[in-house]
Formats: sequence, C-alpha cells, structure tokens
Amino acid sequence: MKGDHDMTTLSFPGIAARAAETDALARIPASNWSDLVDSGYPRLFHPPEIGGSGADAAAQAQAMDALARACSSTYWSVTVSALLCANLISSYGNSRDHEHLLRPLVTGDRLACFGIVEPTAGSDAGTYRTTVRPSGGPDGGFVIRGEKSRITNAPTADLAVTLARREGHEDDGGPEWCLAFVNLHQPGVHRYETPHMGLRGMPWGGIVFTDAHIPEQNVVPVPFQALSDGMTWGWLLVSIAAIATAESALTASVRHAQQRVSFGRPLAHMQGVQAQLADSQAQIDAARVLARRAVHERVAGRPSRQLIGMLKIYATEMAVQVAARAVQIHGATGVTQGHEVERHYRDAQMNVIGAFASNRLREQLAEGLGLGPAVYRSFDWLAPTGLRHNPAGLEGPPRPVRAVA
Ligand SMILES: Cc1cc2nc3c(=O)[nH]c(=O)nc-3n(C[C@H](O)[C@H](O)[C@H](O)COP(=O)(O)OP(=O)(O)OC[C@H]3O[C@@H](n4cnc5c(N)ncnc54)[C@H](O)[C@@H]3O)c2cc1C
Repeated sequence: MKGDHDMTTLSFPGIAARAAETDALARIPASNWSDLVDSGYPRLFHPPEIGGSGADAAAQAQAMDALARACSSTYWSVTVSALLCANLISSYGNSRDHEHLLRPLVTGDRLACFGIVEPTAGSDAGTYRTTVRPSGGPDGGFVIRGEKSRITNAPTADLAVTLARREGHEDDGGPEWCLAFVNLHQPGVHRYETPHMGLRGMPWGGIVFTDAHIPEQNVVPVPFQALSDGMTWGWLLVSIAAIATAESALTASVRHAQQRVSFGRPLAHMQGVQAQLADSQAQIDAARVLARRAVHERVAGRPSRQLIGMLKIYATEMAVQVAARAVQIHGATGVTQGHEVERHYRDAQMNVIGAFASNRLREQLAEGLGLGPAVYRSFDWLAPTGLRHNPAGLEGPPRPVRAVA
C-alpha cells in the first residue's frame, strides 16, 4: 500500500538531489510532493483513525531529521501542514466537524498554512487585528477580515488555520481569541508571495481576507495560553530543521577541509580549522540530545514548553554559528552563489526568526523561571512632541500591555 514504508528508515534521496534546484528556482518541484506522499511522511504524525500511521516518537524524529537534511524548504512546507496545522485542528477542533479538513492534510493531498503574524505585529501578539464576526447573511456563519503576512505556505495552501479575534454580539461577549479554519479558494481571499533570503523553495507570503466566509463550526474558541502550548510543535519543527542544516554544513566542511590543500597540507591538519570543526560537532550533538528529549516529551503529551523553548533558541542560534564556520572554512567557494554552504548559511538564519524570534522566546523562558510575566506599558512616543495625531489610528490613551505569545 502507498506510504506503508518502514518508518524507522525513511530517506529522501530524490528530494535531496533536487535541493539545489529547489533553492535556485524558489519553488518545490511537483516530484517532491509525490515522493513525500509515497513515503508516507505526512501520515507519520497521526493515528490510524484519521488516516495516519501512528509512528512513535523515535520514528517521527528520524523522518523529520532525514527530510530536513534532504531539503529544508520542502521539510518546512510539508511539516507546517501535516504536523503543525493538522495537530492544531485535531487538538482544538473535533472529529465530527473537522475530520474532512484533517484527512487530506494527513495524507498529503492538501496543504495548510498557519496564519498568526500580521504586517504590523510579529512578536507582539496582543496587537493582532484580524477579526471574525457573524456574517449576518442567509448562510449564517462568520466572515473574516484582516491580513496575515510572512506565512509559510500562504501562496499555495488550500486551508488557513488562522488566529483571529472574535467579535461578539451585545449579549455574547464571546471568547476573545479563536482559530478560524478558512478555505483559501473563495472570494474575499487574496494572496501574495514574499521573496526571501533563505528556505527559498518554501512558499512564503501573505493573505488578505476581505470578509471571506467561514462556516460556524470552523471558528473554534481557543484561550491564548492553550494555543501557545500547541505552538510548541512549531518550535520543535524549526529546531529539527536547524540541527539538520548544521549537520549538513559540518559534513560539507569536513569534506572540504580534507580535500583543500594549503601551505602543503590539507586544511584538516591545521589546529585552527580542527577547533572550528570540533566546536561545531559538540554543539550539534548537544542540540541533538536536547531535541531527542523534547520530541519524546512532546509525543508523550507531557508539558514541554520550557524544554522546547530552550531547544528552539539553542538549536537555531547554534546552526547559524556552524553555517558561518562552514562558509569560513570554504573560503571564497563558500560565498559563491549556488554553493551548498551558501544555501545552508541563508537557511540557518531563517530558523532563528521563524516560529517566534529567539529574543522574545528568552522572555518566556525567564517567565518560566518564576521571574513573572514580561509586562510593558505602551510607550506614548507622540506625547513629548505635543502632536496629538496618532498615525497608527489607535484610539484612547496608552494602556498597560501584558506580552503574550
Ligand atoms: C522562515 C519563517 C517562517 C515563518 N512562518 C510563519 C508562519 O507560518 N506563520 C506565521 O504566523 N508567521 C510566520 N513567520 C513569521 C514569524 O513568526 C515572525 O517573523 C516572528 O514571530 C517575529 O516577528 P517579526 O518578524 O514581526 O519581528 P518583531 O516582532 O518585529 O521583532 C524584531 C526583533 O525584535 C525582537 N523582539 C521583539 N520583542 C522583543 C522583546 N519583548 N524582547 C526582546 N526582543 C524582542 C525579536 O526577537 C526580533 O529579533 C515566519 C517567519 C520566518 C522567518
């Protein structure tokens, strides 16, 4: 049966062979998608009841690592859909109403994106503005209005799992935050692509919703704190990508150091180069140990937010250092467009910012240490000027803001 491979030994040689082309053309070839479906990769993360293969933590981690090493762009795109979005739907939705949305993501036949960030707000989640409100039309349901930007898969996805505020009726205060499962093939949806530095093959861009329709059952109230726990899947996904990129950069560095001769000996015989390679190896292994623990805890369903937060910071920043060393060891070859380590260098930086930038995440870790939440009072930067004009169009005086994410 299609997709019933041995899940402990998944490998993606075809996708790896096309990684340079995927980056150069800035799109994922159709053959990558058919390889993914044939391999059963999207089904790994889900139980058989919804079409998954119910792989254990070790098999999931092995497959994610193998795919991320083959091609980071392809890994990001399919894993955001099959792991992150599908887990959000199965965690916060219900089987009666949402199985028909879930199954095609699990089989890899459809693609989803997760829309949180907006043009005016990334880390500062408390200021997101996208809203859903009752449609008031004969079909009932809701409409969504707002813009999500810098979203993985936005240009090509079929479905958007979208974070929004729900406007209530007068007699219904309504839970403030919700996830809206929005069909992207309908009027009121406009999409655009955003060219980007790394992970170039990964579709990335924005979605403008202008009163796009959502059936009532596809607007699911979610307390913000619960959502932020669900989002640790995203941090885990990015950390595994970062470790794989670092590993690939180190492999290329070792190969080059053994082959390149300078001052009558291979670079690999020089202490300065050896030290760089040894540091990279130690950092990668440390991240790997942390990642194994994190996958194990997450798949077992135990609270692991603090652990995965640490991993996200350490692994993504580590990969930037390792990729920078790889470029250094390759000399001018390493900064040549199209060279493998040049691609790893660009890809590595994307992971530091994607799924919440490290600095903001550090604040959340500090909160977990018992230091209390990060609380900011809005800075009224216009007051000293004497101008009472507010270009952001926000009403009212500055108010205390509790940072959320
Ligand atoms: C590869 C990639 C994929 C992405 N995919 C998605 C996606 O699928 N869905 C989605 O919704 N978004 C996605 N994003 C967007 C991403 O979540 C945001 O870029 C990220 O949350 C940071 O927001 P920002 O870019 O607006 O930066 P800002 O929030 O403006 O932050 C800029 C800098 O200031 C720092 N900073 C902000 N607040 C603090 C603070 N309190 N303390 C210290 N430093 C702070 C940040 O760490 C950062 O370094 C993706 C981004 C990338 C790079």
